[in-house]
Amino acid sequence: LLLWWLVVATVADDVKYKDPKQPVAARVKDLLGRMTLEEKIGQMVQIERISATPDIMKKYFIGSLLSGGGSVPNPHATVADWINMVNEFQNGSLSTRLGIPMIYGIDAVHGHNNVINATIFPHNIGLGATRDTDLVKRIGAATATEVRATGIPYAFAPCIAVCRDPRWGRCYESYSEDTKLVQNMTDIILGLQGEIPKGSRLGVPYVAGKDKVAACAKHFVGDGGTTLGIDESNTVASQHELLSIHMPPYYDSIIKGVSTVMVSYSSWNGKRMHANGDLITGYLKDKLNFKGFVISDWEGIDRITSPPHSNYTYSVLASISAGIDMVMIPNNYTEFINDLKYLVKHKFIPMDRINDAVSRILRVKFTMGLFENPLADFSMVNEVGSQPHRDIAREAVRKSLVLLKNGKQADEPMLPLPKMASKVLVAGSHADNLGYQCGGWTIGWQGFSGNENTTGTTILTGIKSAVDPKTEISYMENPNTDFIKSNRFSYAIVVVGEHPYTEMFGDSPNLTIADPGPNIIRNVCGNVKCVVVIISGRPVVIEPYLSMIDALVAAWLPGTEGQGVADVLFGDHEFTGKLSRTWFRSVDQLPMNIGDPHYNPLFPFGFGLTTKTVIGR
Ligand code: BGC
Repeated sequence: LLLWWLVVATVADDVKYKDPKQPVAARVKDLLGRMTLEEKIGQMVQIERISATPDIMKKYFIGSLLSGGGSVPNPHATVADWINMVNEFQNGSLSTRLGIPMIYGIDAVHGHNNVINATIFPHNIGLGATRDTDLVKRIGAATATEVRATGIPYAFAPCIAVCRDPRWGRCYESYSEDTKLVQNMTDIILGLQGEIPKGSRLGVPYVAGKDKVAACAKHFVGDGGTTLGIDESNTVASQHELLSIHMPPYYDSIIKGVSTVMVSYSSWNGKRMHANGDLITGYLKDKLNFKGFVISDWEGIDRITSPPHSNYTYSVLASISAGIDMVMIPNNYTEFINDLKYLVKHKFIPMDRINDAVSRILRVKFTMGLFENPLADFSMVNEVGSQPHRDIAREAVRKSLVLLKNGKQADEPMLPLPKMASKVLVAGSHADNLGYQCGGWTIGWQGFSGNENTTGTTILTGIKSAVDPKTEISYMENPNTDFIKSNRFSYAIVVVGEHPYTEMFGDSPNLTIADPGPNIIRNVCGNVKCVVVIISGRPVVIEPYLSMIDALVAAWLPGTEGQGVADVLFGDHEFTGKLSRTWFRSVDQLPMNIGDPHYNPLFPFGFGLTTKTVIGR
């Protein structure tokens, strides 16, 4: 009888972590109790898909994979290709002794931006200008659906940096220079993961179901505060400044159930964030009660030493001891595995720390139902780039546009533009370029140029479909003055700005409009009444041209739905966007943020006209 009882008990016990009716905590405990050190360490490893095979997933018990910026299964990957790829890797993980599913992560930072034909939403700087938390929630939900449709359950978003210096090449990933506005925009987490149920325990991660993803608040903390806006560098700030300017969006993210937090490449007062145990463990985990997992940035632990990777064992010790739970390796995984095993065996890292890390990772996986639904199906393929999602993106575009000037005289507004006009000139490098209007983190890591790489509507196409059929639109990228003078244009629309960029290549000390943009403004606006639309990831130098421009619109990086621009230019919708950043006069004023003592901007934070405001500038 005893033997029979033992057998029954063992069988019942065997399935505890597999039983969805058990509470998550019980499942985590049960599974953790069965795992070897190798299996635990494997959970803490995230590798780039290029370095992975299903056999590697199995052999090293790899807990997570990623597509780093622009890493795709093949250059023309369809939704089905993505699903098949993810499932193939997942089958490798599921064939291990304990069958723990891996979690696949991707940068979906303005829609599912690595995937051809996905809906691309405005970058965060534009969303900040909308001030519309309900809208960002819907954007989060649409993004989650498109990401999940390709079999991916984890998005490295949102970036909740409070960008204090627009010279930073990632400024457009930040909703605002203003802490409170960034805090409000963390509502996107409720869209990505689903609304957290009332009465949930603070800090516990939450992901609602099969059309939601685990979100990732990044980059912890102070990434937007580096000196001169230099990417990955040092944030010099008192503790009070760090905690009051850069930390608060993490409170909101935790309240909203964010599943993961990514650590910043930057340092705080000279100390690398990837080794900052006081902030990662002491503050984020202990004080703010965050119970999801903390992930490193790409090769982030390598950069604890200078030069990077010069003492990797130390990097592993420092980062894991600081409280990082999952390491984005992304290629040299065996070195990490061996080092961590060595550090644990010799008790440099206590087993408790490993158990804490693995529990957090498993908690997210159990919570989001990955054990029950590890494999993607094809039921949502039509969600990618669907019309309802594009409609949300178009709404976001029109709400993100900020009208900075409207007419040279107070009583002569230029906008809205008449739809009926004999001849209209559209000019500028950015008028008919989907890649430019999407910016970085689109299809490629640094973005792309042209109209071939994905589906969408350029601003020019949007203008053409908005005007009366009798209105003749002439598009010329860089028209010369003779051409302009010899045609009698009713008015001109000039679309110029920055070329796409992202981290590592996007820092700019002078923040100018890309050539020949300034020339186009001079030629066109010097000869015909003009509205200038700026496509940029941040405020740029505009004061020198301001007097020749009749109307000025900041359109940020609007994404694939260029029609949203025409919607407001022609008055089908009113301008409602307000600056999410201070617009400087000259770069030598930087950094300059709302509340600074010598605040003397060209356009202040919060500025934005409507076509009914009767002030010119
Ligand atoms: C970036 C992160 C990104 C990661 C994965 C890093 O270089 O800093 O924001 O999530 O790459 O692509």
